[in-house]
Amino acid sequence: MSAKALLTDTFARTISYLRVSITDQCNLRCMYCTPDGIKKLANIDLLTYEEILRIVTLAVGMGIKKVRLTGGEPLVRRGVMDFIRQLAALPGLTEIRLTTNGVLLADMLDDLYEAGIRKLNISLDSLQADKFRRITGRDNFTRVWHGIEQAQKMGFTAIKINVVAMLGVNDDEILDFAKLTITRPLQVRFIEFMPMGAAAANQRDKFISAAEIIQRIASLGELTPVARHKLHGPARILKLPAAAGTIGLISPLSNHFCDTCNRLRLTSEGRLRACLLTDNETDLKHVLRTGGSDTEIKKLIFETVKNKPRGHLLSQTQKTGNCHGSMSRIGG
Ligand code: SAM
Repeated sequence: MSAKALLTDTFARTISYLRVSITDQCNLRCMYCTPDGIKKLANIDLLTYEEILRIVTLAVGMGIKKVRLTGGEPLVRRGVMDFIRQLAALPGLTEIRLTTNGVLLADMLDDLYEAGIRKLNISLDSLQADKFRRITGRDNFTRVWHGIEQAQKMGFTAIKINVVAMLGVNDDEILDFAKLTITRPLQVRFIEFMPMGAAAANQRDKFISAAEIIQRIASLGELTPVARHKLHGPARILKLPAAAGTIGLISPLSNHFCDTCNRLRLTSEGRLRACLLTDNETDLKHVLRTGGSDTEIKKLIFETVKNKPRGHLLSQTQKTGNCHGSMSRIGG
Protein backbone atom coordinates (compact mmCIF):
# COMPACT_ATOMS: atom_id res chain seq x y z
CA MET A 1 0.00 0.00 0.00
CA SER A 2 1.38 3.45 -0.86
CA ALA A 3 2.02 6.08 1.82
CA LYS A 4 -0.78 8.18 0.39
CA ALA A 5 -3.29 5.35 0.59
CA LEU A 6 -2.30 4.65 4.21
CA LEU A 7 -3.42 8.03 5.44
CA THR A 8 -6.69 8.39 3.59
CA ASP A 9 -9.74 8.33 5.83
CA THR A 10 -13.15 6.76 5.27
CA PHE A 11 -14.43 9.99 3.68
CA ALA A 12 -11.60 10.01 1.09
CA ARG A 13 -9.70 12.83 2.80
CA THR A 14 -5.94 12.46 2.55
CA ILE A 15 -4.24 13.34 5.81
CA SER A 16 -0.93 15.12 5.26
CA TYR A 17 -0.69 17.61 8.11
CA LEU A 18 0.25 16.94 11.75
CA ARG A 19 -0.01 19.57 14.46
CA VAL A 20 2.17 18.80 17.43
CA SER A 21 1.67 20.36 20.85
CA ILE A 22 5.09 20.18 22.48
CA THR A 23 4.00 21.59 25.85
CA ASP A 24 0.84 22.31 27.81
CA GLN A 25 2.55 25.32 29.42
CA CYS A 26 2.06 28.90 28.31
CA ASN A 27 3.41 32.29 29.36
CA LEU A 28 0.06 34.00 28.66
CA ARG A 29 -3.36 33.44 30.21
CA CYS A 30 -5.74 34.38 27.43
CA MET A 31 -9.30 34.98 28.53
CA TYR A 32 -10.73 32.60 25.92
CA CYS A 33 -8.12 29.84 26.20
CA THR A 34 -6.91 29.56 29.80
CA PRO A 35 -9.35 31.68 31.83
CA ASP A 36 -8.90 29.36 34.86
CA GLY A 37 -5.12 29.04 34.52
CA ILE A 38 -3.31 25.87 33.48
CA LYS A 39 -3.10 22.70 35.50
CA LYS A 40 0.48 21.68 34.75
CA LEU A 41 1.09 18.18 33.45
CA ALA A 42 3.67 16.25 35.45
CA ASN A 43 6.95 16.14 33.49
CA ILE A 44 6.70 12.39 33.25
CA ASP A 45 3.37 12.74 31.42
CA LEU A 46 4.80 14.99 28.74
CA LEU A 47 6.17 13.30 25.63
CA THR A 48 9.94 13.64 25.41
CA TYR A 49 11.43 15.16 22.26
CA GLU A 50 12.74 11.71 21.33
CA GLU A 51 9.23 10.28 21.59
CA ILE A 52 7.77 13.09 19.49
CA LEU A 53 10.47 12.58 16.86
CA ARG A 54 9.75 8.88 16.70
CA ILE A 55 6.04 9.50 16.10
CA VAL A 56 6.66 12.24 13.54
CA THR A 57 9.20 10.08 11.70
CA LEU A 58 6.69 7.25 11.42
CA ALA A 59 3.89 9.64 10.42
CA VAL A 60 6.06 11.20 7.71
CA GLY A 61 6.73 7.71 6.38
CA MET A 62 2.96 7.29 6.12
CA GLY A 63 2.33 10.49 4.16
CA ILE A 64 2.52 13.43 6.57
CA LYS A 65 4.24 16.30 4.75
CA LYS A 66 3.67 19.28 6.98
CA VAL A 67 4.16 19.68 10.74
CA ARG A 68 3.15 22.59 12.91
CA LEU A 69 4.62 23.05 16.37
CA THR A 70 2.19 24.51 18.84
CA GLY A 71 1.17 24.24 22.47
CA GLY A 72 0.69 25.74 25.07
CA GLU A 73 3.45 28.05 23.99
CA PRO A 74 6.08 26.01 22.11
CA LEU A 75 8.91 28.49 22.70
CA VAL A 76 8.76 28.06 26.50
CA ARG A 77 9.88 24.42 26.37
CA ARG A 78 13.55 23.98 27.11
CA GLY A 79 15.56 22.50 24.24
CA VAL A 80 13.03 23.48 21.59
CA MET A 81 15.66 24.74 19.18
CA ASP A 82 17.63 21.48 19.13
CA PHE A 83 14.36 19.65 18.64
CA ILE A 84 13.44 21.85 15.66
CA ARG A 85 16.86 21.22 14.10
CA GLN A 86 16.32 17.47 14.37
CA LEU A 87 12.84 17.79 12.93
CA ALA A 88 14.12 19.89 10.04
CA ALA A 89 16.53 17.10 9.14
CA LEU A 90 13.74 14.54 8.64
CA PRO A 91 13.60 13.43 4.99
CA GLY A 92 10.12 13.73 3.49
CA LEU A 93 8.94 16.51 5.78
CA THR A 94 8.46 19.43 3.40
CA GLU A 95 7.18 22.10 5.76
CA ILE A 96 7.64 22.99 9.43
CA ARG A 97 5.63 25.86 10.84
CA LEU A 98 5.48 27.33 14.29
CA THR A 99 2.51 28.88 16.06
CA THR A 100 3.60 31.20 18.85
CA ASN A 101 2.25 34.00 20.98
CA GLY A 102 5.43 35.90 20.09
CA VAL A 103 6.45 36.82 23.64
CA LEU A 104 9.85 35.09 23.37
CA LEU A 105 10.14 35.41 19.62
CA ALA A 106 12.52 38.34 19.14
CA ASP A 107 15.31 36.62 21.09
CA MET A 108 14.87 33.33 19.29
CA LEU A 109 14.52 34.51 15.69
CA ASP A 110 18.17 34.00 14.74
CA ASP A 111 18.10 30.42 15.97
CA LEU A 112 14.75 29.71 14.34
CA TYR A 113 15.99 31.05 11.01
CA GLU A 114 19.17 29.06 11.27
CA ALA A 115 17.17 25.93 12.11
CA GLY A 116 15.29 26.34 8.84
CA ILE A 117 11.99 27.81 10.01
CA ARG A 118 10.65 30.45 7.63
CA LYS A 119 6.94 30.27 8.34
CA LEU A 120 5.54 31.75 11.51
CA ASN A 121 2.01 32.15 12.82
CA ILE A 122 1.96 34.73 15.56
CA SER A 123 -1.14 35.16 17.71
CA LEU A 124 -2.06 38.73 18.46
CA ASP A 125 -5.56 39.73 19.49
CA SER A 126 -5.08 43.45 20.01
CA LEU A 127 -2.91 46.26 18.70
CA GLN A 128 -3.49 48.21 21.91
CA ALA A 129 -1.13 47.52 24.80
CA ASP A 130 -3.83 47.92 27.47
CA LYS A 131 -6.26 45.65 25.78
CA PHE A 132 -3.54 43.10 25.05
CA ARG A 133 -2.95 42.94 28.81
CA ARG A 134 -6.65 42.53 29.52
CA ILE A 135 -7.01 39.69 27.00
CA THR A 136 -3.79 37.84 27.83
CA GLY A 137 -3.28 38.70 31.50
CA ARG A 138 0.29 39.85 30.75
CA ASP A 139 1.82 43.19 29.77
CA ASN A 140 3.65 41.94 26.69
CA PHE A 141 2.30 43.80 23.68
CA THR A 142 5.55 45.66 23.00
CA ARG A 143 7.59 42.47 23.05
CA VAL A 144 5.25 40.67 20.68
CA TRP A 145 5.10 43.61 18.28
CA HIS A 146 8.89 43.91 18.33
CA GLY A 147 9.11 40.20 17.52
CA ILE A 148 6.82 40.64 14.51
CA GLU A 149 8.80 43.62 13.20
CA GLN A 150 12.12 41.82 13.67
CA ALA A 151 10.82 38.73 11.91
CA GLN A 152 9.79 40.84 8.93
CA LYS A 153 13.17 42.57 8.81
CA MET A 154 15.00 39.25 8.95
CA GLY A 155 13.16 37.88 5.95
CA PHE A 156 10.68 35.46 7.46
CA THR A 157 8.55 35.46 4.35
CA ALA A 158 5.30 33.83 5.38
CA ILE A 159 4.17 35.56 8.55
CA LYS A 160 0.57 35.11 9.60
CA ILE A 161 -0.98 37.09 12.42
CA ASN A 162 -3.75 35.08 14.10
CA VAL A 163 -6.51 37.20 15.58
CA VAL A 164 -9.33 35.53 17.50
CA ALA A 165 -12.20 37.90 16.77
CA MET A 166 -14.40 38.56 19.78
CA LEU A 167 -17.47 40.72 19.93
CA GLY A 168 -17.17 43.48 22.52
CA VAL A 169 -13.50 42.64 23.07
CA ASN A 170 -11.52 43.36 19.91
CA ASP A 171 -14.10 43.66 17.13
CA ASP A 172 -13.49 47.42 17.22
CA GLU A 173 -9.97 46.66 15.92
CA ILE A 174 -10.97 44.57 12.90
CA LEU A 175 -10.28 47.45 10.51
CA ASP A 176 -6.97 48.32 12.19
CA PHE A 177 -5.82 44.74 11.78
CA ALA A 178 -7.01 44.64 8.17
CA LYS A 179 -5.16 47.89 7.42
CA LEU A 180 -1.87 46.28 8.49
CA THR A 181 -2.02 44.26 5.28
CA ILE A 182 -2.04 47.36 3.10
CA THR A 183 1.61 48.15 3.73
CA ARG A 184 2.95 44.93 5.22
CA PRO A 185 3.43 41.68 3.29
CA LEU A 186 1.83 39.53 5.94
CA GLN A 187 -1.42 37.70 6.32
CA VAL A 188 -3.84 38.79 9.04
CA ARG A 189 -6.11 35.84 9.83
CA PHE A 190 -9.33 36.33 11.70
CA ILE A 191 -10.36 33.18 13.54
CA GLU A 192 -13.92 32.66 14.73
CA PHE A 193 -14.04 32.28 18.48
CA MET A 194 -14.75 28.65 19.41
CA PRO A 195 -16.64 28.19 22.66
CA MET A 196 -14.61 25.24 23.93
CA GLY A 197 -12.97 24.24 27.20
CA ALA A 198 -13.33 26.69 30.06
CA ALA A 199 -14.50 29.48 27.72
CA ALA A 200 -17.55 27.51 26.65
CA ALA A 201 -19.58 28.25 29.76
CA ASN A 202 -19.82 32.01 29.75
CA GLN A 203 -18.18 33.52 26.68
CA ARG A 204 -20.50 32.33 23.93
CA ASP A 205 -21.81 35.87 23.36
CA LYS A 206 -18.36 36.89 22.05
CA PHE A 207 -18.86 35.03 18.79
CA ILE A 208 -18.67 37.05 15.59
CA SER A 209 -18.92 35.30 12.22
CA ALA A 210 -16.43 35.45 9.36
CA ALA A 211 -19.20 36.86 7.14
CA GLU A 212 -19.68 39.79 9.47
CA ILE A 213 -15.93 40.39 9.66
CA ILE A 214 -15.72 40.47 5.86
CA GLN A 215 -18.63 42.86 5.70
CA ARG A 216 -16.87 45.26 8.03
CA ILE A 217 -13.54 45.04 6.18
CA ALA A 218 -15.29 45.69 2.86
CA SER A 219 -15.74 49.29 4.02
CA LEU A 220 -11.98 49.70 3.34
CA GLY A 221 -12.25 48.70 -0.33
CA GLU A 222 -13.19 45.85 -2.64
CA LEU A 223 -11.95 42.48 -1.41
CA THR A 224 -10.72 40.08 -4.06
CA PRO A 225 -10.24 36.35 -3.44
CA VAL A 226 -6.71 34.95 -3.57
CA ALA A 227 -6.10 31.42 -4.85
CA ARG A 228 -4.44 29.09 -2.34
CA HIS A 229 -2.77 25.72 -2.25
CA LYS A 230 -4.75 22.83 -0.74
CA LEU A 231 -2.02 22.12 1.83
CA HIS A 232 -2.30 25.68 3.08
CA GLY A 233 -5.30 25.07 5.25
CA PRO A 234 -8.88 26.12 5.64
CA ALA A 235 -8.59 29.90 5.47
CA ARG A 236 -10.50 31.85 2.87
CA ILE A 237 -7.98 34.41 1.59
CA LEU A 238 -8.88 37.90 0.42
CA LYS A 239 -6.96 41.00 -0.52
CA LEU A 240 -7.63 44.72 -0.31
CA PRO A 241 -6.84 46.80 -3.42
CA ALA A 242 -3.07 47.17 -3.98
CA ALA A 243 -2.35 45.64 -0.57
CA ALA A 244 1.06 44.14 0.17
CA GLY A 245 -0.47 41.42 2.30
CA THR A 246 -3.64 39.36 2.54
CA ILE A 247 -6.54 38.73 4.91
CA GLY A 248 -7.52 35.22 5.96
CA LEU A 249 -10.84 34.14 7.44
CA ILE A 250 -11.08 30.92 9.41
CA SER A 251 -14.66 29.93 10.09
CA PRO A 252 -14.80 26.64 12.00
CA LEU A 253 -18.30 27.42 13.26
CA SER A 254 -20.17 29.43 10.63
CA ASN A 255 -18.80 27.51 7.67
CA HIS A 256 -17.28 24.13 8.58
CA PHE A 257 -14.28 23.16 6.51
CA CYS A 258 -14.40 19.57 7.78
CA ASP A 259 -14.86 18.20 4.24
CA THR A 260 -11.35 19.29 3.36
CA CYS A 261 -9.71 18.73 6.76
CA ASN A 262 -6.30 17.09 6.26
CA ARG A 263 -5.13 17.24 9.89
CA LEU A 264 -4.12 15.12 12.79
CA ARG A 265 -3.07 16.45 16.18
CA LEU A 266 -0.60 15.08 18.70
CA THR A 267 -1.24 16.41 22.20
CA SER A 268 1.60 17.18 24.59
CA GLU A 269 0.79 14.05 26.62
CA GLY A 270 1.03 11.84 23.56
CA ARG A 271 -2.54 11.40 22.43
CA LEU A 272 -3.34 11.42 18.76
CA ARG A 273 -6.50 13.26 17.87
CA ALA A 274 -8.18 13.27 14.49
CA CYS A 275 -10.44 16.28 15.13
CA LEU A 276 -9.79 19.40 17.20
CA LEU A 277 -13.42 19.55 18.25
CA THR A 278 -14.10 15.86 18.95
CA ASP A 279 -12.66 14.31 22.09
CA ASN A 280 -11.73 10.85 20.71
CA GLU A 281 -8.02 10.27 21.25
CA THR A 282 -5.54 7.43 20.77
CA ASP A 283 -2.98 7.02 23.54
CA LEU A 284 0.34 6.65 21.72
CA LYS A 285 2.45 7.37 24.79
CA HIS A 286 1.37 4.17 26.52
CA VAL A 287 2.38 2.11 23.49
CA LEU A 288 5.68 3.97 23.16
CA ARG A 289 6.51 3.41 26.81
CA THR A 290 5.59 -0.23 26.94
CA GLY A 291 7.96 -1.25 24.19
CA GLY A 292 5.55 -0.83 21.28
CA SER A 293 7.07 -1.55 17.88
CA ASP A 294 7.04 0.84 14.93
CA THR A 295 4.45 -1.41 13.30
CA GLU A 296 2.14 -1.13 16.31
CA ILE A 297 2.46 2.65 16.39
CA LYS A 298 1.82 2.95 12.66
CA LYS A 299 -1.26 0.74 13.07
CA LEU A 300 -2.62 3.13 15.71
CA ILE A 301 -1.94 6.15 13.48
CA PHE A 302 -3.70 4.37 10.65
CA GLU A 303 -6.72 3.50 12.84
CA THR A 304 -6.98 7.05 14.18
CA VAL A 305 -7.13 8.33 10.62
CA LYS A 306 -9.71 5.70 9.66
CA ASN A 307 -11.88 6.82 12.58
CA LYS A 308 -11.60 10.52 11.82
CA PRO A 309 -15.14 11.87 12.18
CA ARG A 310 -16.82 13.30 9.12
CA GLY A 311 -17.21 16.65 10.90
CA HIS A 312 -17.41 18.27 14.30
CA LEU A 313 -20.62 19.13 16.12
CA LEU A 314 -19.62 22.36 17.78
CA SER A 315 -21.77 25.30 16.83
CA GLN A 316 -22.36 28.76 18.12
CA THR A 317 -25.48 27.65 19.97
CA GLN A 318 -24.64 24.11 21.06
CA LYS A 319 -23.11 23.68 24.49
CA THR A 320 -19.72 22.20 23.66
CA GLY A 321 -20.55 19.78 20.84
CA ASN A 322 -18.46 16.73 21.60
CA CYS A 323 -15.34 18.62 22.66
CA HIS A 324 -14.57 19.36 26.28
CA GLY A 325 -10.81 19.72 26.07
CA SER A 326 -9.02 23.03 26.29
CA MET A 327 -7.02 24.44 23.41
CA SER A 328 -3.85 24.78 25.50
CA ARG A 329 -3.90 21.04 26.21
CA ILE A 330 -4.81 19.86 22.73
CA GLY A 331 -2.70 22.38 20.83
CA GLY A 332 -4.56 24.98 18.81
N1 SAM B 1 0.79 29.71 22.27
C1 SAM B 1 0.66 29.65 20.86
C2 SAM B 1 -0.13 30.83 20.34
O1 SAM B 1 -0.54 31.64 21.14
O2 SAM B 1 -0.29 30.92 19.15
C3 SAM B 1 0.08 28.32 20.33
C4 SAM B 1 -1.08 27.73 21.04
S1 SAM B 1 -2.59 28.62 20.92
C5 SAM B 1 -3.67 27.52 21.79
C6 SAM B 1 -3.00 28.42 19.23
C7 SAM B 1 -4.09 29.30 18.68
O3 SAM B 1 -5.33 28.89 19.19
C8 SAM B 1 -3.93 30.77 19.00
O4 SAM B 1 -4.00 31.53 17.80
C9 SAM B 1 -5.14 31.04 19.87
O5 SAM B 1 -5.56 32.36 19.73
C10 SAM B 1 -6.14 30.04 19.34
N2 SAM B 1 -7.25 29.76 20.25
C11 SAM B 1 -7.19 29.33 21.53
N3 SAM B 1 -8.43 29.19 22.06
C12 SAM B 1 -9.30 29.52 21.07
C13 SAM B 1 -10.72 29.56 20.98
N4 SAM B 1 -11.48 29.23 22.01
N5 SAM B 1 -11.27 29.95 19.81
C14 SAM B 1 -10.49 30.27 18.74
N6 SAM B 1 -9.15 30.23 18.75
C15 SAM B 1 -8.55 29.86 19.90
